[in-house]
Amino acid sequence: MLLRVSDLKQYIYCPRIVYYSYLMPVEKKVTYKMEHGKVAEAEIATMEKRRKLKPYGLEEGKRRFDVWLKAEVVGLTGRIDLLIETVDRWYPVDFKYTQRPVQRNHLYQICGYALMIEELFRTRVDRGFVYLIPLKDVVVFTLKDDLKKDCRKMTAEIQEMIEKELMPEATSHRVRCVECEYQNYCRDIW
Ligand code: SF4
Repeated sequence: MLLRVSDLKQYIYCPRIVYYSYLMPVEKKVTYKMEHGKVAEAEIATMEKRRKLKPYGLEEGKRRFDVWLKAEVVGLTGRIDLLIETVDRWYPVDFKYTQRPVQRNHLYQICGYALMIEELFRTRVDRGFVYLIPLKDVVVFTLKDDLKKDCRKMTAEIQEMIEKELMPEATSHRVRCVECEYQNYCRDIW
């Protein structure tokens, strides 16, 4: 089965969110932050078309926006905000509307994009970027083989969890439960 790349990010945040989203989905509330974030992402895409690639440490490259990919072997699908193609390398970029520092789950999201690019374009991706819109700052992620291996393992774990309907443990960060849209399903933790 194909997972969304964002599932990797969510799985690290709380594995139950991914479980519920496939097996017991609820209607998503669109928050002001989400709406505002989408508008900001569209604006930044327009600006990026005019800008140089210096913030990414690159001299030149071809830019493609909103690239949808489906990689059957790795088992992932998703939309990359910006894909930069240079002579010998490809780089995924994710635009984020946040002032908070990037977390481990973002690293896995970028790695998921890298695995799809490697499968579909038969290339090697060793770096990816998160562009923090409010800070106008670029965070660079190095994508090592161990991380890619871990990312593949996590994808397989999630697929198994869904296919066998194995309810995972709740997150140990209970603060995340306070505003969670699935909290009605997690009666065991309250
Ligand atoms: S309520 Fe907490 S444990 Fe349950 S899905 Fe939400 S974040 Fe995870």
